[in-house]
Amino acid sequence: MSSDKIAVMAELVFFSGTMDSGKSTLALQTHHNHSTAGRRGLVFTRKDRAGEATLSSRLGLQASAIEVNPETNFLRLMTQALSKGETVDYLICDEAQFYEVEQIDQLARVVDDFGIDVFTFGITTDFRTALFPGAQRLLEIADRVNILQVEALCWCGKKATHQARIVNGVMVTEGEQVVVGDAGTNAKPDEVVYEVLCRKHHMRKVTSKKAKQEHMSKTALPFEDSIG
Ligand SMILES: [Zn+2]
Repeated sequence: MSSDKIAVMAELVFFSGTMDSGKSTLALQTHHNHSTAGRRGLVFTRKDRAGEATLSSRLGLQASAIEVNPETNFLRLMTQALSKGETVDYLICDEAQFYEVEQIDQLARVVDDFGIDVFTFGITTDFRTALFPGAQRLLEIADRVNILQVEALCWCGKKATHQARIVNGVMVTEGEQVVVGDAGTNAKPDEVVYEVLCRKHHMRKVTSKKAKQEHMSKTALPFEDSIG
C-alpha cells in the first residue's frame, strides 16, 4: 500500500453499448489517454473480430492485446506481474461479455486488492436479447456502468438496442450464445453476421434486408396481380 495511486480509489467500470456503438474505439482511446498520462496498463480482449490477441475497432485502429481464454486467471496474472516488479495501473478489458463470471469476480478483486483500475467494454445482451453471463456479472458488481453515447441506429432510424444474428440472410433467435461474426451487410453464404435493430424490429424479426424485400414486394403487387 505504498503507492500514492492506491490512495485514489480504483474502480471497476463497465462501458456498455450495442455492436457498432464504438466500444473498442473507446477502449483504445482510454488506453491511449492513460498511457499518455504516464500510467502503465495491460490490454485484454476475447474473440475480437480481427483474430486472437488483437483489439480492433471498426474505425480501423488496432492494438496488440492479451487473449483471454476460459483458463485466464486475472488475479494470478496480476500477482505474477507485481511480484516481478512490473507496474500496472489499469487494465483495459474488451469484449468483456465473453469473460467467465469468475473472471469478472477476479477483476473486482484486482480493483479491491491491488488498487488497479479496470475498464471493461462490452455488449450486454445476445442475439436472443438475453444477458451474457459476463455482462450480467458486471452489471451486478461494477462500481459504475456507462452506457455509450454514440448510438447505433436501426435501419428505421430509431436507436438500436438489440443485436440480431443473421445466418444465410435469415434472422435467427435460437442457437449457441457465442458465435463470432462480423457486423456488416456484405455477408457471404453460410456466414453469421449481426445487425443492430431497435426493439420493435428485433421482436418482429425485420432486418434491413427483410424490410427492403417487404417494401419491394408491396410495390410489385399490382404488377403481379395483373399477370395473375
Ligand atoms: Zn427499427
